[in-house]
Order: sequence, then C-alpha cells, then structure tokens
Amino acid sequence: MKAEVRNPIELTTIGVGAPRKVYVPENLSELRSLLKEGLRVVGGGSNAVLSDEGPPLISLEKFRDVTLSGDLLRLGAGVTLSCVLRLQRKNKFSLFEFLSGVPRATVGGLVAQNAGAFGREIKDFLYSVEYLDIESGEVLRLNREEILNSFKYRSSPFPERGVVVSATFKVVPDDSISEKIKRIVNLRLKKHPPFYLKTAGSTFKNPSGLSAGKLLDECGFRGFKLKNLKFSEVHANFLINEGGAPFSEFLEIVETAREKVKGQKGVDLELEVRVV
Ligand SMILES: Cc1cc2nc3c(=O)[nH]c(=O)nc-3n(C[C@H](O)[C@H](O)[C@H](O)COP(=O)(O)OP(=O)(O)OC[C@H]3O[C@@H](n4cnc5c(N)ncnc54)[C@H](O)[C@@H]3O)c2cc1C
Repeated sequence: MKAEVRNPIELTTIGVGAPRKVYVPENLSELRSLLKEGLRVVGGGSNAVLSDEGPPLISLEKFRDVTLSGDLLRLGAGVTLSCVLRLQRKNKFSLFEFLSGVPRATVGGLVAQNAGAFGREIKDFLYSVEYLDIESGEVLRLNREEILNSFKYRSSPFPERGVVVSATFKVVPDDSISEKIKRIVNLRLKKHPPFYLKTAGSTFKNPSGLSAGKLLDECGFRGFKLKNLKFSEVHANFLINEGGAPFSEFLEIVETAREKVKGQKGVDLELEVRVV
C-alpha cells in the first residue's frame, strides 16, 4: 500500500498545520487494518484543519467506483465533487449542483459533514451509506430511515462511527442542469472569497436561526487578521491562510473570535471545520 508524507496544502484547502504521513489503501482489507491501528480518514480536506502533530491519516483516493443504475447512483467515498458534477452534465440529472464551485470535496467528506447550501443538504438525496464500522470491523449499511434519523445540520454519525466507503444517491432527471451549475458557481463567485485563496469554507456552524458570518461581522471580525490567518473581507465566516500558519495560530484566532462573540452576543460558536 502506498504511504507518503504530504504537505498541509496537499491535504487540506486551508493549508494549516504540518506535513503528515498518509496511507492510501487499495481495498477494504487494507483499510480495515489501518482502522484497527486507530488511524483516521481525510477526504479532500476542504473542511479540515491539520494539527501540527498527529498519527498518519488515511486517504480513500483509490475508492472511486461509480455505478449509475436507473435513478440510483452509487459513488465510492473517494469520488470527487467535480467528477459527480461532470457526470451530472453528461447524463443530465440533478444532485450536487448546490455545491458546485466547492473545491476538492469528496463523497466521503460530503456525507460525513452532511454538506449543504441554498436550502439543500446531502441527506435529502442520500439513499444508503456503506461504511466500515470502527467497533466491529464489518462493512455495515445505513438505510434511508436511519439516515433521516441520524443526519443533522452539518453533522452525521461519521467519521466517529466508521469510514464511509460508498454512498448511494437518488438522482432526478434535469435537462437544464448545466445552466444550474453555472448559476451556482457565479453566485459563489459573488458571495465567497476568490477560489484561489487558502480557506476551509465556513469556519463555524450557523447557530440555530442565526448566521455565524453576521455575528462575526457585527463583532468586528470581517477582515480581522492575527498573524498568518485572516477572516475574509468578503465573508466573515471564511478564514484565509495568508502564509504557512501552524495549528496554534488557527486555535488562537478561532478562540479570539469565540470569546468576543460569546461576550458581545451571548452565543457559543461551534466549529464546522474538523480538526484531523
Ligand atoms: C471555498 C469553500 C466553500 C465551501 N462551501 C461549502 C458549502 O457551501 N456547504 C458546505 O456544507 N460545505 C462547504 N465547504 C466545506 C466542505 O467542502 C464540505 O464540508 C465537504 O463536505 C468536505 O468534504 P471533504 O472531502 O473535503 O472532507 P474533509 O474536509 O477531508 O473532511 C471533513 C470531515 O469528514 C471526515 N471524512 C472525510 N472522508 C470521510 C469518509 N470516507 N468517511 C468518514 N468520514 C470522512 C473527515 O475525517 C473530517 O472529519 C466549503 C469549503 C470550501 C473550501
């Protein structure tokens, strides 16, 4: 099995932290033995921050099977969002267009984070999830009913319960899908910081009925910079890495923001970004 040391910017879109060893299992039995050693998985790293030190990570980039049968699309956990969007344009169906423009995300990460935007989220289309259960080492399946009961706003039972190896989605025919994808990309270009900046998307979850970006903005964090990290001027909930920020700087700016928002607004902000 391949194993190599990768830089933080190869592993995550924000590029915080230090280089980390990564194993790339070829199949389920290799993945099972890595899980037994207590190693954890990273997807595209688009909602993840690396700590400065830690055990090796697992990448599922070899788990990229795609099967479309009728209205069911089964995707390996390592399939990228951009690959699915290409398939949507080619076969004219609706699925992940609300996330178009999000860089590097993979199916495993989209499921684990129950990613969402514009009033839609992954669980709305998720039919079943196959995962390698940490406790038993078996491949288990979550059905639609269990998904509806356990997936919440930007959270799911994963990765705590196990590693998603594949997920099946219900797709809906859509002749105007290419135009919809273009429209969403244009909307993101207007609302979000430019795609080439190093960021992990939303830093904090939106507290119930509130906007984390608005709270941060009202507490003076739009454009606020601490060492190498800065809350974006375009969207205050997006943290931008302007240099080679270590993990300690990430903790520092996040805690500074949390404390001030708690003091001024009485709201506890919860991280959306996952520390791996
Ligand atoms: C510019 C930008 C815009 C964004 N916009 C949005 C948005 O509109 N809406 C939104 O919801 N998110 C958004 N994000 C965040 C991010 O793209 C999503 O959270 C995405 O789902 C993360 O997928 P990933 O593969 O990159 O996961 P990672 O960031 O690699 O991992 C995230 C978490 O998922 C876990 N994980 C990854 N793969 C697996 C697996 N196979 N099994 C179990 N657990 C796994 C990791 O351990 C980690 O805890 C944005 C990010 C960026 C950079």
